[in-house]
Amino acid sequence: MERDRPTREMVVKCNHATCPHAFPFWTFRPLHFRNQPRFLRALEEDDYETAYELRAKRCISCRVREMRASNDPYGTGVLADCRRQWYAIYNDMARRGCARCGATDQLMEADHINEADKTHELSHYVWWTQHGGAAAMFAEYQNKCQPLCRPCNLSKAHEYARRAIDDVVREMGEAGIELPETARRPRINRL
Ligand SMILES: [Zn+2]
Ligand SMILES: [Zn+2]
Repeated sequence: MERDRPTREMVVKCNHATCPHAFPFWTFRPLHFRNQPRFLRALEEDDYETAYELRAKRCISCRVREMRASNDPYGTGVLADCRRQWYAIYNDMARRGCARCGATDQLMEADHINEADKTHELSHYVWWTQHGGAAAMFAEYQNKCQPLCRPCNLSKAHEYARRAIDDVVREMGEAGIELPETARRPRINRL
């Protein structure tokens, strides 16, 4: 389809499927830190073709709405819900303290008690917006997680890995498979 050569004041339609709005071209300023200055420079230089390539695809009205839904702590969007839920969970963990050492002054992590039950990291709240929302996050936390401080979570992961290694080595022994010499010797740091 042919389009007019863009100008600064040319009215551009929002490309959101259900949005009826159209605004002057210069309001389609990209929000991205890299594209925004390039867009502004192109406008300044009357290089409207370049600016047109860099423009945001959605109108300012849509972007105001999306920004509210995603960032406003009192927003009503599912992303705002999930973010609030994550902070509620985080605050609850901080109040309860680490399930291993009792620390309350450390960065807390939601540890899945049984890794096999894990649906997804709770801190990755963006993922949860597509997988059941805040209610699913809360159920995951209530039913499967315990608060662990970061050092305890790391040592849990380390113990888990060491146990797994011990299991494989033992089972290999039982199967009559001999480990290479280098794996049997205690590790010595050489300079
Ligand atoms: Zn729009
Ligand atoms: Zn701890």
